[in-house]
Amino acid sequence: MSRVLVIGCGGVASVAIKKCCQVSDVFSELCIASRTISKCEALASELQSRTSTKITTRQVDADDLGQLISLINSYKPDLVMNIALPYQDLTIMEACLACGVNYMDTANYEPEDTNNPEWRKIYEKRCKEKGFSAYFDYSWQWAYEEKFKKAGLIALLGCGFDPGVTQAYCAYAKKHEFDLIDTIDILDCNGGEHGYPFATNFNPEINLREVSAPGSYVENGRWVEVPAMSIKSRYDFDGVGIKDIYLLHHEELESLAKNIPEARRIRFFMTFGESYLTHMRCLENVGMLSTTPVRFEGRDIVPIQFLKALLPDPASLGPRTYGKTNIGCIFTGEKDGKGKTYYIYNVCDHQQCYRETGSQAISYTTGVPAMCGALMLLTGKWNTPGVHTVEEFDPDPFLVALDKYGLPYKENRSPAIVCL
Ligand code: NDP
Repeated sequence: MSRVLVIGCGGVASVAIKKCCQVSDVFSELCIASRTISKCEALASELQSRTSTKITTRQVDADDLGQLISLINSYKPDLVMNIALPYQDLTIMEACLACGVNYMDTANYEPEDTNNPEWRKIYEKRCKEKGFSAYFDYSWQWAYEEKFKKAGLIALLGCGFDPGVTQAYCAYAKKHEFDLIDTIDILDCNGGEHGYPFATNFNPEINLREVSAPGSYVENGRWVEVPAMSIKSRYDFDGVGIKDIYLLHHEELESLAKNIPEARRIRFFMTFGESYLTHMRCLENVGMLSTTPVRFEGRDIVPIQFLKALLPDPASLGPRTYGKTNIGCIFTGEKDGKGKTYYIYNVCDHQQCYRETGSQAISYTTGVPAMCGALMLLTGKWNTPGVHTVEEFDPDPFLVALDKYGLPYKENRSPAIVCL
């Protein structure tokens, strides 16, 4: 029996909330709070007759610490699930600390305003120290480690699929499959087709910021940064077929380098089609991906936010997306003195997700792990105070829950490796 406060009611949150409502013995009471309360109310009324979870709704601006504290103090949840945007991570963590409540999210902090001079100073210093220049990194949230530990609270960071399940796959490989992991390649393939010339599968602003950033990977304890989309290969994905894959910077590279330091190389690849990349390059070339406001007819407009308003809402892609996703990790290393290769992955069907939750597989593969991570915290299976990423916890009960609630894993002990 527990009370959970979910902040955000977009594509991912809707799936997580629907999944929580399938586990009413644990998620007995749920408050859905977001900026636009009509979305929370619509979802609550859709679900209330189908679940014994008691659902309430609240309006909140999660950029406002005072509003968050008063909401948390009045609802008194056992856990706050932050499924809004990465911009709100720090205010929601602050509010959880102030109210003595556990915290979790699905993506690491990045600022909405990347032109803020104070933030830029720290960012530029950090770029030099760390060796990669993506706007997002864990340093902001890891800085809360002592405070959460002292308060006896847990902050679980990045519990979606990637980040999230991919790190549980790493912890699983380390625990059961290898004495020593040498290399990790994370492969994120979306073989889905939605029929639009250009659309993103989750929040367009966050998605386009991520994929237009320079790529990077970790090798021999150092970051190697390369121009965006400059490292390309092809891979034959189970359930999908052959796709072009591109090396990207991704947040779990940073935590894996810290928590599995013996790995000599860690990389992340994502599939993109030619049409997506051509549109993205064109939008970038004309300045539409910029986060710097431009003055237009007497008011300031942030180009990437204007673009978001023009693009299809990812939550509307469910009925028209066909095909499968395949996301997982390929490892090389040693077991019992012998070289070994191991691939663990999940294949998810867009239409099957839509039939179950009304959402396409990207929201589904993020929302289900968010619910399963919450389940681990609420049932005490993951209980170490402090600020943690998924690979720091026991992967076994989490993978059992993922299997039960819609994301079973597959294994291949002689996979092809990524050739460059
Ligand atoms: P959406 O844009 O669909 O939803 C975001 C939600 O947050 C909306 O309900 C929005 O409200 C709400 N919100 C935004 N700002 C505020 C605020 N200031 N106060 C309160 N609520 C706010 O995003 P997605 O569902 O696609 O993504 C959700 C999160 O999941 C993101 O952080 C994303 O990066 C992450 N993600 C993680 C993945 C993983 O594998 N780990 C994969 C995909 C996404 P409103 O309706 O008013 O706009």
